Amino acid sequence: MYTQILHEIQQSMAPFANDGAVSNSIPELALIDPSKFGIHLVTTQGIDYGIGDSNERFSIQSISKVLALSHAFTFVGENIWNRVGVEPSGNPFNSLVQLEYEKGKPRNPFINAGALVVADILLSHLNNPKKDFLDFVRTLAHCNTINFNEKVALSEKTVGYRNAALANLLKSFGNINNDVTDVLDFYFYQCSIEMTCKELAHSFCFFANKGKTLTQNKQILTESQVKRLNALMQTCGFYDEAGEFSYKVGLPGKSGIGGGIVAIHPQKYCVATWAPRLNEKGNSVLGMKSLELLTTKTGMSIF
Ligand code: GLU
Repeated sequence: MYTQILHEIQQSMAPFANDGAVSNSIPELALIDPSKFGIHLVTTQGIDYGIGDSNERFSIQSISKVLALSHAFTFVGENIWNRVGVEPSGNPFNSLVQLEYEKGKPRNPFINAGALVVADILLSHLNNPKKDFLDFVRTLAHCNTINFNEKVALSEKTVGYRNAALANLLKSFGNINNDVTDVLDFYFYQCSIEMTCKELAHSFCFFANKGKTLTQNKQILTESQVKRLNALMQTCGFYDEAGEFSYKVGLPGKSGIGGGIVAIHPQKYCVATWAPRLNEKGNSVLGMKSLELLTTKTGMSIF
C-alpha cells in the first residue's frame, strides 16, 4: 500500500514545486538545491519505503531538538519541566519577547530558548557533550556514519546573534548553568547534524515503538515518556503552525529549517520528508503537503 501511495504523492507535488523559498537564515544552508525532494517511511515492523532523494543527507536543524530533549529526559526526567514549559508559544521560534515576560522560563523545548536550556542540561550531564550526543543519535539511527556538518555549525555561529541574545537572557534569569559560549557552540553543532530521510525515520521510530529502537529493541524512553514527547511534538513541533499541521496531517512531528519534517504514527510507522523550500512559517511546503496526502490516502491519523 505505501509504495503506491508514495508514488502518488510524488506525482501530486509537481504543481507546488516552486512554492516557498529556501531558508536564508544560515548562509551555508542557503546553498541547498531547492528542488530536492524525498520521503522515507518505516513501519514498526521494520519495513522500509523510500522515494526521491530519501537517501541524501541534509541538515536536520530544529529536528535535533527532539533528540536532544529525549537525551536530556533520560538524565533528569520530569525535573526538566522546572526549567522549560510544555505550552505552545504562539510566537516565532526565536522570539525574545516572551522569554523576558515569563522571567526566563521558555514556553517549550522546541523554541530556541527551550532548546538552549536543554543543551545546557546535556552539557551538565555529558562528559564529552558533542561526541556523547552524536553517539546517542547514531544508536537511535543504528548508523555510525551520521555526523555534524562543521561548515554549517560555524556558518550559523557567524550569524547567531539572536540565539546568543536568548542564551544571555536565559543566563541573566539563572536558567543556564554552563558558560553561554559553550551552550551556543553545542547547540549549533547539534543543529548541524546531517541525516537522510531514511536515517531520520529510523532514529525517530522509537516514538512509534513504545520507546524501543527499531533494529535493536533498545528501550530509550519509557512508554509514558514517549507518550508525553509525542504530545509535545503534536502541540509545539511546527513553529507557529502546529495547529495547522495537526489539522491537516493529524500526526505528532517536528520540522526544521533545512526542509526536513519527521512525523510519527504511534504503533504504525515513522515517516520523514525533505524538501528545502519553506513557507512563511518556516515549514517545508512539499513536506507538509506530502504528509497531508499520506494521512488522507491511508485514511489513518491519530484522530
Ligand atoms: N539552528 C537554527 C536556529 O537556531 C535552527 C532553526 C530551525 O530549524 O528551526 O536558528
